[in-house]
Amino acid sequence: MNQSSRKIVIAIDGFSSCGKSTFAKAIAARLGYIFIDTGAMYRAVTLYSLEHGAVVDGEVQQDKVVELLPQIEISFRFNAERGASDIYVNGVEVEQKIRSIEVSNLVSKISSIAQVREKLVAMQQRMGQERGVVMDGRDIGTVVFPDAELKIYMTADPAVRAQRRYDELTAKGDDVTLEEILENVISRDHADMNREISPLRQAEDAIVLDNSHMSVEEQMAWFMERYEAVISR
Ligand code: C5P
Repeated sequence: MNQSSRKIVIAIDGFSSCGKSTFAKAIAARLGYIFIDTGAMYRAVTLYSLEHGAVVDGEVQQDKVVELLPQIEISFRFNAERGASDIYVNGVEVEQKIRSIEVSNLVSKISSIAQVREKLVAMQQRMGQERGVVMDGRDIGTVVFPDAELKIYMTADPAVRAQRRYDELTAKGDDVTLEEILENVISRDHADMNREISPLRQAEDAIVLDNSHMSVEEQMAWFMERYEAVISR
């Protein structure tokens, strides 16, 4: 097989609001790969749980979430305008709704439920079985695709990450404060790193990318160098 037709799996893991999705999306566009935002899948389950009585007084009712799981059907459809796929739950597009601070505050609780992870990991493995995918999340290089040919572990200063997420949300007109965003970023990092099942950690063979002070172009140049090295092996 020649180099250009050889397709690989690119796993991008890391902390909340590091710009993983922006980076993964740019890579997918550059290589003609499919981009899969696995965080969106956990967010979609969270939104559905919120809207179907599995969160009472701000507390996640784990049994109820598990009971709802079989009726949650997640799919993606490409949106040419955005240059990425929108996420759908049972045929309804929820791309914007899943980004709310309410969902962000609950998602780490929902993503720590074993049955939720089982369902979503199986789906992610099916979506990547043909390779030619860029997947971003927390456990892609460790659990979903431990055999991914290229693994990147992204990190950035929490204050920089909070500011980026704040700019993104306020640009959309969301009424949020920088303090609450920073609090959410720090508490999600903590929950994601300390949960029992598939905690966020760097795969042994992952390359670290700290993008605190890097532009998207600089990140792309950094990536292409690593990609060429893998593909010409
Ligand atoms: O990437 P994003 O910040 O949208 O992810 C939302 C949440 O989904 C994370 O804080 C984490 O709890 C969960 N997640 C996960 N495993 C993944 C992707 C996301 O547990 N592969």
